[in-house]
Amino acid sequence: MHSSRCGVIIPAAGSGSRMGRSQPKQFLELAGIPVLARTLRVILDHPKLAAVVAVLPPEQLQSGMELLLPFLSPAQQAKLCFTAGGATRQQSVYNGLAALPMEIDRILVHDGARPLVTAAVIDRCVAGLDEHGAILSAVPVKDTLKEVTATEATVLRTVDRARLWQAQTPQGAARSLLEQAFRQAVADGFVGTDEASLLEHAGIPVSVVMGSELNLKITRPEDMALATALLRQEEQLMRIGHGFDAHRLVEGRRLILGGEEIPSHLGLDGHSDADVLVHALMDAILGALGEGDLGQHFPDNDEQYRGADSCQLLVQVMKLVRAKQMRLLNADITVICQRPKLAPYRAAMQARLRALCATEAINIKATTTEGMGYAGRGEGISSHAVVLLAEYASV
Ligand code: MG
Repeated sequence: MHSSRCGVIIPAAGSGSRMGRSQPKQFLELAGIPVLARTLRVILDHPKLAAVVAVLPPEQLQSGMELLLPFLSPAQQAKLCFTAGGATRQQSVYNGLAALPMEIDRILVHDGARPLVTAAVIDRCVAGLDEHGAILSAVPVKDTLKEVTATEATVLRTVDRARLWQAQTPQGAARSLLEQAFRQAVADGFVGTDEASLLEHAGIPVSVVMGSELNLKITRPEDMALATALLRQEEQLMRIGHGFDAHRLVEGRRLILGGEEIPSHLGLDGHSDADVLVHALMDAILGALGEGDLGQHFPDNDEQYRGADSCQLLVQVMKLVRAKQMRLLNADITVICQRPKLAPYRAAMQARLRALCATEAINIKATTTEGMGYAGRGEGISSHAVVLLAEYASV
């Protein structure tokens, strides 16, 4: 069999009522990225998985796609489609099965709320499918298990755990076997809590492959804290960037710095609003991304950028940051300006840029040059910025 014909169904249509939050758990942010986007990235990046369908709550199909797609690269998006889920997990997985191309002859199902799945676990599952036809990833039970009474939770006995395994996902089977299991379940009115139980019900042998203790399912608030801690450990790739810009002060222009209009009889000259502070910041971010400079992205001979609000351009640059699977950790910006005094506007500038860049760690400083040079003579204002970006990684 060819591994390239393996597809994945990601059921993520649940309401997540156990999280105690209004938003379903799969859409909550985990270390800055929605849980489901993290899960999708790991699955979509695996070279042996050819097609992926994410099954979303029907009423959130459109909004869910809009939330997730900015976190996925074009190459990742090319393997992905979305479909609406049903009332039960079983119905959602069935809808996903119908949405996968017919040439997909082996299917894995993976919980949208298990973002810490690794390529190694997926490798074992794909190899297991080739060998056995139907598989389940699981880990041996570690804790001593007690059977208790239903009403008072008094211990009845200790359960022998030697043959007990905890089911995880991925689970899966050859397409023909999975379809057979669904037909049998429909015929018998059987509803299972996972795909392996459907296969078992249909009398199809299911082999166990080793899962991972780290492949936890985000169900309760404490799972979110644990997953965040695990991910933070792995986020190691950092990139630094530096930006510099200078604009001339002229009459008849508004003075815009850090998105704030500052009362002044002189303003900065330029094709856009000439916000030298935001320009330096954007150049630093583009530098860290290895994406050239501002002029390449927003040419100053392009009419659409005449008088442009530089903060709106910053929004575009931040989209690029997310598309490259990075996030801005911090920025330090120095404005070199003899007059007017910028201190009264510093807090407002910082608040605006913190919101646009989705980080509290934006620092703005202002200095004069004690009358020296073009800045000292009041001919212009310049700005330097340094930034640090971090790549999101998965464990
Ligand atoms: Mg500029």
